[in-house]
Amino acid sequence: MNLNLTAEALTPGAQRSWWLREALAAEDAQACPPLAGDETTDVVIVGGGFTGLWTAYWLLERDPNLGVTVLEQDICGGGPSGRNGGFASGWWDELDGLVLLYGMDGAVRSAREITKSIAGIDEFCQKHGVDAWFRRGGYVFAATGPRHEHVVEEMVRDVERAGAPEEMQQLSREQVQARCQSPAFRTGAFMRDGASVQPARLARGLRRVVLERGAKIHEGTSVTRVDSGPVAVTEQGSVRAKHAVLAINAWATTWPRIGRRVAAWSSYIVLTAPAPEKLEEIGWTGGELISDLRQSLRYFRTTRDGRIAFGGGGGRAAPRIGDSFTQDKEAVRQAAEGFRLFFPSWAEVPIVDGWGGPIDVSPTHLPTFGTLPPGNVHFALGYTGNGVAPSHLAGRVLADLATGTDSDLVHLPVVNPPRAKLFPPEPMRSIGARMVRSAIIRFDTAEELGVRPHPLANAVAHLPRRMGYLLGPQ
Ligand SMILES: Cc1cc2nc3c(=O)[nH]c(=O)nc-3n(C[C@H](O)[C@H](O)[C@H](O)COP(=O)(O)OP(=O)(O)OC[C@H]3O[C@@H](n4cnc5c(N)ncnc54)[C@H](O)[C@@H]3O)c2cc1C
Repeated sequence: MNLNLTAEALTPGAQRSWWLREALAAEDAQACPPLAGDETTDVVIVGGGFTGLWTAYWLLERDPNLGVTVLEQDICGGGPSGRNGGFASGWWDELDGLVLLYGMDGAVRSAREITKSIAGIDEFCQKHGVDAWFRRGGYVFAATGPRHEHVVEEMVRDVERAGAPEEMQQLSREQVQARCQSPAFRTGAFMRDGASVQPARLARGLRRVVLERGAKIHEGTSVTRVDSGPVAVTEQGSVRAKHAVLAINAWATTWPRIGRRVAAWSSYIVLTAPAPEKLEEIGWTGGELISDLRQSLRYFRTTRDGRIAFGGGGGRAAPRIGDSFTQDKEAVRQAAEGFRLFFPSWAEVPIVDGWGGPIDVSPTHLPTFGTLPPGNVHFALGYTGNGVAPSHLAGRVLADLATGTDSDLVHLPVVNPPRAKLFPPEPMRSIGARMVRSAIIRFDTAEELGVRPHPLANAVAHLPRRMGYLLGPQ
């Protein structure tokens, strides 16, 4: 198949993601030099992605006089926050897992908080003049295989059972095609909780706003450990604080105490040249986020200038974050193949960029937020590829935890759940993750083709559920 990829798309990792290049070109940023020496503050945050920056923002909202320092090894938004699909989406499709873990009331309360967070991102952008291309177009789940048609029906039944039927509607094949024409789409469901953003603009906008509000940010500053105190230690200095927040996403896999809460899998995105007339042609003008229902998800959205960003492919697991998360040419090729399959009418439109990053997969497919003993180090992780809206909630929760605020938020069931499910230690974790991921992809492909999956792929794909993890097919 001719994938029509430009040289930029063929060399993932050679440059920053298109999102981040676009955002950096549009800003006149204040410099945030690396930490040099020892400092003291109230709250030190490790990681300058959405989680870290939202935490800084909400801390300063709660108390503008608080000392807040963010330490980021790269630049703010240099990680997945500046290279994701930009799906700010709700948790109504996650109800089955949420209910299993937290009961109906806890599940609905949590999902409603994510709804508030999506609105909160919009409010933040408007209030602070951050042009993050926020567009509320909802989310279409498009079935691409026979079993997926039952999955969408079940998702719609789940939200009805939760007493929130307005959050998700069943779509016939014609209704799916009316929103976006593709030969691959069958029936579907529409979740109203869905907005697209230009993620790097949001991350960089957050950086600007927290700096204006008095936070200190040191970029190019890698934290080697957080000692009791807590003290965030780097090669060039340290920051002593009353509280520390770990906002390091998939990098947590190698950290003590939190490492086994996540496994790192890669995901890759390809981006087309602008072709607004082609979007008109396929009727995809409502700004909907769209994904299929494979476990190895394919997800896609449009951009303000008429492109399609299409994610999927990759899914390689590794014990630590390295080149396989950013330089995997085969993963870009797979994402491009998926795009060409779904949108054959775009064959002449070149794919002009491709990039990847790590996903912090949690054993429950949902993130947890919490505090480590003795009570002054807080964390949020395990977004499992859905962190744009949840990291806004994480920021609100972490700000309350770090300031000792006894809010409703800190009593959400996703905060300090009593029994944290852990992955096995290395090397079992990444070997297992690699085997399961590849079996899931084979299982998904067979299902899409309507054929019986190979018995071995079938057995391995179902292994996580048998072991009590909420991952893989049911
Ligand atoms: C390709 C891809 C597509 C995705 N698509 C979507 C999507 O469409 N919708 C969605 O909701 N989610 C998506 N996600 C997931 C989403 O990007 C994340 O859940 C979200 O960005 C998490 O934000 P974060 O701040 O926790 O993590 P990050 O953005 O990863 O930030 C963590 C930061 O910590 C820094 N760091 C790590 N270790 C250290 C250290 N020792 N010292 C200092 N700094 C450190 C890193 O450099 C990084 O900048 C996607 C992810 C990927 C990779």
